[in-house]
Order: sequence, then structure tokens, then C-alpha cells
Amino acid sequence: MTLDLRSKYVLSFLLLVLIAIVTANVYLEYSLGEWLETQLVTELRRHATIGRLLVESDGSLTSNRNPDRLADLLGHDQGVRVTFIAEDGRVLGDSQRDAVALLSMDNHKLRPEVVEALRDGVGISRRESATMAQGMLYVAVPFQQPDGGQGIVRAAVPLEGVQALTSRLRMAIVVAGLIAIMTAISLSGLFAHWTTHSQRHVIACAQTMAHSTRAPRIEIHANDALAGLASSLNLLAEEKNETLALLSERQSQMLAVLQSMHEGVIALDGEQVITLMNRSVTELLSLPHAPVGEAVRHILPEQIRKELALEQPYLPAQPFSTEFDLPGPMVRRVTAVVTPLHEHPGHVIVLRDVTEKRRLDAMRRDFVANVSHELRTPVSVLQANAQTLLEGALEDNKYSRILVSAMERNASRLAKLIADLLDLSRLEADQFAIELQSLELLPIVHEVVDLVRLAAQDKEIKLQIMVEPEMTIRADAEVLRRILINFLDNAVKYVPNRAKIWVRTRERQGQWRLEVLDDGPGIAPQHRDRVFERFYRVDSGRSRKMGGTGLGLSIVKHLAEKMGETVGMEAIVPQGSLFWLSVSRVVV
Ligand code: ADP
Repeated sequence: MTLDLRSKYVLSFLLLVLIAIVTANVYLEYSLGEWLETQLVTELRRHATIGRLLVESDGSLTSNRNPDRLADLLGHDQGVRVTFIAEDGRVLGDSQRDAVALLSMDNHKLRPEVVEALRDGVGISRRESATMAQGMLYVAVPFQQPDGGQGIVRAAVPLEGVQALTSRLRMAIVVAGLIAIMTAISLSGLFAHWTTHSQRHVIACAQTMAHSTRAPRIEIHANDALAGLASSLNLLAEEKNETLALLSERQSQMLAVLQSMHEGVIALDGEQVITLMNRSVTELLSLPHAPVGEAVRHILPEQIRKELALEQPYLPAQPFSTEFDLPGPMVRRVTAVVTPLHEHPGHVIVLRDVTEKRRLDAMRRDFVANVSHELRTPVSVLQANAQTLLEGALEDNKYSRILVSAMERNASRLAKLIADLLDLSRLEADQFAIELQSLELLPIVHEVVDLVRLAAQDKEIKLQIMVEPEMTIRADAEVLRRILINFLDNAVKYVPNRAKIWVRTRERQGQWRLEVLDDGPGIAPQHRDRVFERFYRVDSGRSRKMGGTGLGLSIVKHLAEKMGETVGMEAIVPQGSLFWLSVSRVVV
């Protein structure tokens, strides 16, 4: 059992008081008995001496009756038994016996006090009285009898009286002791309360320091060891506050860094419970909030946990990385680095969304493959034709003409391809200067249509313009021309002879469009979404034959985006294609 400080104080006081009382009691009992006996002996001796003086001064005492009377006289009021004894041991008188009873009394010659008195001049004895049948204290002194012999006068009191007095005194001591104990309890309680007040204050403050995040200062107005302890604790509290402030600052910095990180961070404890998850992970996993405190098995699907080795009984002790598809509304490609913690059991998982990177990598690979593929045919033609010419075909006028014209066609194709690639790279590198201005649309449409008119006439294609008169739009004139010529050029290229092409403006859901329609073969549904991709062709053989590079529409898309506009294509019924560019009409 542990006692608090105050109880210890009270108990110590109590113990001290008890020891003091018991010691006092033992001492008193011992010395009081002795003192009382000495007092009684002195008293009895005085009685005996008075008896001796009386008996020696009165000659009549020699008569048989008189000693008894004298004894009665001396012992009557004092509560003292007085006995006169002759030298031969006969009892001459006794204050507690009448004259008749005296005759039957024993001979007292051998009583110890009598023997001692005759020998030493005074005899003291404590013993059981044969006459009184109780414990008595005797004091005897000798006296001179008129006949020259010696007699003994003896005074006695019952020991019972001494014992009663001792008991009364003992009781008084016990009562005093009890009062002292009660007083000691109350006083020690008060004293303990007063002396432990500061300690309790320090203890309470220390407990608050231990449990609160902001430790309080201890105010103590003393100049002792406690004050030293309090100032040490205050120092400790200050250090704790500073450390906590530093830690909280570091923690908020770390959280800010974690939250702003593009990478997703998940921290797990040894039980695979999530202790930290940043915003990137909640976004990646489409979670409403960070499920801190939940087991990871409730959050990540089994397949992902297997990828992260979380399903194994023991996670690898060394960091490792892995890459996998994260299922969800949109499948994401993710790389993960799982790092074990060394100080505590647990792991930190860093996730990186590499979907876009992988897509760009694939695009780059496709692009390089496509460019190589596109370059290979014209370069081979140029090489082969030049070789044939050198090997003698130059002499054959007609044949060499065919070869050179093929070389010229392929060289132009190469030039067109290189020009388109340069445009594309300038657009992607953001090196294409755009100057938006208010333009009257119709004159530009006429200008561009005139450029394809000759080619259209060759195929007897009917061109029709249905553009809002006096419509002004906000656009870059050169970009607008390039987009429109691309649409028109494609239309002329891909429609059959005698087809029809329209250039018109239309308003759709509050948005104006410049549209190029044709009643040609159209584009099958599976290709419609992809015709704006680089090198995408519906019919590559036909496109190449037409001098197409497969880059035209992707350049158009980039150009439109540079102006803040969009492009698209739709099929038209019963047949044909519709290519459109959104335009921003300026109301003048
Ligand atoms: P290309 O240089 O091959 O014309 P584009 O990017 O301009 O490349 O066009 C992509 C593909 O879209 C073409 O190869 C062609 O198959 C298809 N296309 C474009 N315009 C039309 C159209 N008006 N009618 C039918 N198909 C078209």
C-alpha cells in the first residue's frame, strides 16, 4: 500500500507521540510506585516515631490496656494501622483489634520488620498480613520500655491503597495520552497540510506538465530544496515547450510538404494501419478523405496489396519498387516505392502516377516510328531513281523523265513532311506566335476557296460558300487561313469527282462555327475520334497517293487550341463529312 505525503506525515507524528506516551507511562509507572512507597514509608515512619515518643514519655503505657488505647488513638483517623509489640513478641495494642482479640493474636517477634527494627533501629516490610489477610506495608521502630526492655511500635497501611492510587494515576496518564494523540492527529494533519502544500502544488504542476502539450510554470515562494526543484521543473517545462513548438513547426512543415507533393505518400505502422496519407493518394484512389487509423486492407484492393507485398507475412526489409495499373473509373499506371522504417515497425509507400508519362513515351515511340516510316518511302524512291539514272537511264530521255518526275514528287513529299513536322514541333514547343484580331470572315473564306478552286475544277467539284455576310470574328488571320485550307484541301482530295463542298457558318448551342461539308465517302465511326491524331489516316495508301502526310488535322487541332478555339468532325446524312472550327464572333 502506498501512502500519500500527508498520510506519511500524520503517521510519523502519531508514531512519535505514541512512543513518547508509552515511554512516559513506563517511566511514570516505575518512578511513581517508588516515589509513593517512599512517601508512605516516610509517613509510616513519622507515625511510628510519634507512637515511640508518646509511649516513651508516658509511664502509664506499661499497663496492659493503655498501649491498645494509644494504638487506637494513633491509627483511628489516619487509615493507618498502629501496633505496639513487646520485646518478647506479644502484641500490646493494635488499632485494628480490640483488647479481647489481642489475646488471640500471633506472637510478632519474628515478623521481618520487628526483627529488622530491633537490629537496625528501623524495619520496613511489604508482605501479606496474617491478621488482616491482605498485602500491607510495615514500618517499625523500637522504643524504650520503662522496665528497660525494648518494645516495637509499628505503623502499617494496606498496599491496596498504593495500588489504587497508582491505577488512578495510570488512568490519568492514559487519558492524557489519548488527549495528546487526538491533539497530535489534528495538529499533525494541519501541519502536514501546511508543510506539504508546496510539495502538492509542485506535484500537481509536474503532473500537468507531463500530460499537457503546453507545460505551465510553477510559482513557488520558498527558498528551499523545493524551490530548486520547482525551478528545475520550470526549466524542463520551458525546454519541453520549446521542443514541442519546434516539433509542431516541423510537423506542419512536413505536412505542408507532403500535401503539396505530386507523389502520393502512405505511411503504415507495424499492424498495417494507415498513419498518414497525403492528398495526392486520396485523389488517386478517389477517396473522400484520408482514412488515417484504418487498416490498409479496407482501403486498397487485394491485387494492389499483393503488388506492394502487403499480403506477405513479412514485408521485405529493403526498399523495393514496382509498377502496376490502379483500377478505378480511369485506370491509372502507377509506380510505387515501398520503404521499411528502421526505428519503428512500419512502411512508407510513395506512389507516382506515371499514366501521362507512359502515354507520352508511347506517343514518342510511335512518332519516331511513324516519321521513319514516312521518310523511308520517298528517300528510297529518290535513292533508287538516282541510281537508275546514274547506271545509264540518263541516256534514255523518255525513261529518265519519268524517273526525275518521280524524284521531284517524292522530294516535294519530303519537303511537305519536313515542313509539317517543323510546324508541329514549333507548335508543341510553344514557338508559334499568335496575334488575335477582329477579322471579317467572308473575304478570308473567299481567298482560301480561290486557292483550291483549280483543283476542285479538275474534279468538277462544286464549291459553295454560305458564310454570314459581314460576320466579324476574333482570330489570327494566318492561322484561320491554314485551318480552312486544310479542311478544304482534304475535302477536295478525298471526295469523288463531281461531288459538292460547302463552306458555311452555323450557330450551335450559342457557339458559332465555321464548317466545311462535303458529300464524299465520309469517315467510318471507328476512325472519327482519331483523325486529329498525328499520322492517323483512314486509308494510308490513298492519303499518300494524294500527297498527304497524316499530320494536317493534328496541326489544325494545335492551331485551333492556340487561338483558344476547338475543332471537330461529324458525319452527315446520307453521306459525307463535316469538319468544324469554333469561332468567336465579335459584335460590332
Ligand atoms: P492527310 O495528310 O493524310 O490528309 P490529315 O490529318 O489531313 O492527313 O487527315 C487525316 C485523315 O483523315 C486522312 O488521311 C483521311 O483519311 C481523313 N480525311 C480527312 N478529311 C477527309 C474528308 N473530307 N473526307 C474523307 N476523309 C477525310
